[in-house]
This record gives sequence, C-alpha cells and structure tokens, in this order.
Amino acid sequence: MTVTYCLDCDHEIELGFTLTMGQRVKCPNCGVVLEIISTDPIELDWVYDGPAMNVDWGKSWWRITTSSTDR
Ligand SMILES: [Zn+2]
Repeated sequence: MTVTYCLDCDHEIELGFTLTMGQRVKCPNCGVVLEIISTDPIELDWVYDGPAMNVDWGKSWWRITTSSTDR
C-alpha cells in the first residue's frame, strides 16, 4: 500500500497499489480532491476544474469585447 500526505492538512492518504498519472484521490480528513501528477516520486497537485475556471474565461472574453467596443 502506497501512502502519501495531503497537501492541505498533511493527513495520511492511502493511494492503493496501482498508481496512475491523473488519478484523483480524496483526502479522508479534509475532503480535498488531489490529482497524481507524478508516480515516481509520488507528487500530488490540486485539481483545477469546475465553475471557477469557467467564470475566469467568461470575464476575459467580456473584457476583450468591451475594450474593442471602446475603440
Ligand atoms: Zn486533507
């Protein structure tokens, strides 16, 4: 059993026996979802997806449209 530690709370996370790049694991302590970005050595990173990314894209699109209208 491979074990790593949560990036947020340092709680132990059991990864199982098979590790895959991009595999997502959930911290049993704080519930944060982390993604395996490297298997040797094991590295985790936060998962960036969902509504927050869509809001950012929407804002930049809106800004470009507004500035071109000003000219
Ligand atoms: Zn945690």
